[in-house]
Amino acid sequence: MPRQADRNPVAPGLVALAAGNVLSPEEGAQPPLFDCQSCGACCSYSADWPRFSTENDEQLDRIPPDHVAADQSGMRCDGVRCSALSGKVGKHTACGIYELRPDVCRACMPAGDDCLMARRAHGLPT
Ligand code: SF4
Ligand code: SF4
Repeated sequence: MPRQADRNPVAPGLVALAAGNVLSPEEGAQPPLFDCQSCGACCSYSADWPRFSTENDEQLDRIPPDHVAADQSGMRCDGVRCSALSGKVGKHTACGIYELRPDVCRACMPAGDDCLMARRAHGLPT
């Protein structure tokens, strides 16, 4: 199970993670409503996300070990896709550990900067 020493207390959001990389958010977008269950873009964006951050040991111990990265720094990803994500991005998706998901996942809000960047990367409307 992941322990405190394995965690990054300042685990970045997707925008921070991508700063200086390929994608950058556009300014001034007026997002419509977003339906996470027909999206999943933020869950399939980066092999370095989501990282564990402010969770306590009790929270992390509830995450199924097969979904935890080998170095216990965050969720295990298959490529850029979180192993807990099921379904087809942009069509119908679900988080297999929704009630137990890491804090950075909870912080990624529909229509927020991270959301918009991930959706753009998947060619989804913003
Ligand atoms: S937060 Fe945004 S990118 Fe993530 S699943 Fe919801 S709509 Fe998609
Ligand atoms: S744990 Fe769930 S909400 Fe977080 S990235 Fe994985 S599938 Fe998405």
